[in-house]
Amino acid sequence: MLRHIVVVGASLAGLRAVETLRERGYDGALTLIGDEGRPPYDRPPLSKQVLQGVWEPQQTFFRKKEGFDSLALDMRLGVRARALDVRARQVLLADGTTIGYDAAIVATGARVRTLPGMRLRPGLHVLRGLDDAIALHRELGEVARVAVVGCGFIGLEVAASCRVRGIGVTAIEALPSALTPAAGRTICETVESLHRDHGVDLRTGARVADVVGDTRVSGVRLSDGSLIEADLVIVGVGVTPNTEWLEGSGLTLEDGIVCDESGEAAPGVYAAGDVARVPNAWLGDARRVEHWTNAVEQGVFAAESLLAGGGARRRFSSVPYFWSDQYDRKIQFAGSARPGDEVVVVDGSTAERRFVALYRRADSLAACLAMNHPRGFIKFRKLLAAKPRWDEALSASL
Ligand code: FAD
Repeated sequence: MLRHIVVVGASLAGLRAVETLRERGYDGALTLIGDEGRPPYDRPPLSKQVLQGVWEPQQTFFRKKEGFDSLALDMRLGVRARALDVRARQVLLADGTTIGYDAAIVATGARVRTLPGMRLRPGLHVLRGLDDAIALHRELGEVARVAVVGCGFIGLEVAASCRVRGIGVTAIEALPSALTPAAGRTICETVESLHRDHGVDLRTGARVADVVGDTRVSGVRLSDGSLIEADLVIVGVGVTPNTEWLEGSGLTLEDGIVCDESGEAAPGVYAAGDVARVPNAWLGDARRVEHWTNAVEQGVFAAESLLAGGGARRRFSSVPYFWSDQYDRKIQFAGSARPGDEVVVVDGSTAERRFVALYRRADSLAACLAMNHPRGFIKFRKLLAAKPRWDEALSASL
């Protein structure tokens, strides 16, 4: 019998899990534990609206106070979970409290990676949480030139937001192209030219050897010896899952929490979101996915699996999806692209930066990417669920 459910991680996946438990009729005790001292908020606006100053930080909160009251939660915010005892069914908190549970959902997400040997000092920023965004937004008001290290989606969004504010940007990427090689050369070049046309000094194939400046950063030195002067350095080189607190818990931890098809990691313990490796039947593997929609879907899925019980045969299946907003362009992606996939623009053109591109792998449609073309995109996103043959996908584009 379920009398007490504990959810660790008070963010997107954790919130969707507690909402789902209540929506499906669970009326027992429900505890939500989060180490940030704020109610759950949305991260995508941090690199966009919050950095640009068009949203106040509190506009990112998912619910107002009454909205949280209606969920009847025991919210423990500002306190870290320190350990999980799977056998005793207990969570230990950093404040010394022990909380027993009948079932638990872990949604502790991920944190940013930093550059090896990088010493934290004023002027050096990362962006994961609301506090990071507030600090960065404030400092951006006082500087003329920034260096963005890492040109994945978050780095590029930060670069765009800085340019929108009129700040000079040098963006540095160690790989030969911005974005990700899996996106394909045409797409990477289109996004690179978008940034260059907005005045970003984009350096690809450039490795940062050091962040310079003793008491405060003054720039970065590249491995070829050149110095890029900057008043602020913002590092966006990927994330790592928050699993350290689970060492010794008995859960299998390998680049995230390893789960079975139903999202269960140990009897009565489920995982969801950026921290979880839940087998995805559509993908055919159990990789971690670091996107908003995945956190929502897995939060719901974990809650439903938990209520269905350990014996229930459930299978997570979803076409991975994400979006990114840069300047006045919306990029949308669905599916799974790999380097070597053939990329074919089937609607619009990269020259006008309004298009739908399909990714072909052997005789199948593997993925779809659109720029400022939501109507074209939605058609292929839906089609991808059925894993269509390439010729079927092409005929849908006519
Ligand atoms: P998180 O959001 O990481 O939340 C985990 C929570 O658990 C955090 O509050 C963390 O502090 C807490 N926690 C960690 N350890 C403990 C512990 N031991 N005890 C208690 N609490 C703990 N995705 C898109 O698809 N499109 C976008 O445009 C997009 N933009 C983004 C912009 C930014 C700046 C960022 C950072 C992310 C963006 N994402 C985007 C990704 C998306 O926001 C994440 O995939 C999503 O937030 C993951 O949710 P989550 O609940 O799994 O984890």
